[in-house]
Amino acid sequence: MFNNITIIGCGLIGSSIIRAIDKKKLSNNVTIYDKSKDVISFLKKKNLPIHFSDNLNHSVKDADLIILAVPLGAYIDIFSSEKIKFKKNAVLTDVGSAKKEINKIIEDLNLKDISWIASHPIAGTEDSGPQAGFAELFEDRWCIISPSAKAKKEDIKKLKLFWEQLGSKVKTMTIEEHDHILSITSHLPHAIAYNLVRTAINNKDEFKKDVIQYSAGGLRDFTRIAASDPIMWRDIFLDNSENIIKILDNFSINLEEMKKAIKEKNGDKLIKIFLETKEVRKEIIKAGQDTKKADFGRKKD
Ligand code: NAP
Repeated sequence: MFNNITIIGCGLIGSSIIRAIDKKKLSNNVTIYDKSKDVISFLKKKNLPIHFSDNLNHSVKDADLIILAVPLGAYIDIFSSEKIKFKKNAVLTDVGSAKKEINKIIEDLNLKDISWIASHPIAGTEDSGPQAGFAELFEDRWCIISPSAKAKKEDIKKLKLFWEQLGSKVKTMTIEEHDHILSITSHLPHAIAYNLVRTAINNKDEFKKDVIQYSAGGLRDFTRIAASDPIMWRDIFLDNSENIIKILDNFSINLEEMKKAIKEKNGDKLIKIFLETKEVRKEIIKAGQDTKKADFGRKKD
């Protein structure tokens, strides 16, 4: 396993990794680096068995595994602000939600004797920061890993085992496959939710108060997704722009088709569309991605 682990960025995902490593006793030597003083002081109060570093280069120099858990827009700062030097034969990974641009940044460094293996734990919440983190975040969730051409086979195996020990199911795919699939399963729903809530909550509308009051009709569920971290989602939309534009074009075609059916009062067409989508729901339940139980939303605190 990895003796020395360094985690850069300790918000929702980074702090959840720290907590999971601690809970499962996966390493006695975890060092963390985060640029936010508030994050550091919050984690110091948690009494976790970790070392704190205030110097990026020092934090990584002895690490066998380095995990970047920062926003996608921060990779460029991390790799250009100073000449970052990793230990020979270290494994470098991340948790970023889109891969094309950040992979370019890391591949351009032409790192010698380092296995760069991108990771994306498909786990998270609409909250950010270490206050929102918890050790069980990765349990029974998929984690996609995308090894670079130069990554050593034994390092890929070690990283896969690491994520499995955190509770994840691991799937290997290329960066291109990752960005294509995630544009459909995650980035499209977020784009729609942001726009849907924006359309529904028109500040000039005299019914705005009522719309919020009666939001349980469906709008409420979209507001959860549309409350996701703005910085994170700006970065994802910029990084995976090509795939997202393509899928939004398809979305517009389907929306036009539905508008046409409504306008022409074409009930058969509407039933055909709705039956198709109902089938997808059955497949998702069959794949264990959700349960059949009706969801009327969580109980209020
Ligand atoms: P987060 O809660 O905002 O945490 C990110 C942390 O990184 C913050 O403490 C931030 O400090 C710090 N940071 C920013 N720039 C830094 C730098 N240059 N050096 C050191 N630390 C820096 O974000 P998150 O939700 O954990 O997301 C982190 C990554 O995980 C993102 O790449 C995201 O795409 C990916 N991811 C997120 C989710 C999710 O649901 N949230 C799921 C899967 C993957 P400041 O607050 O001061 O900027």
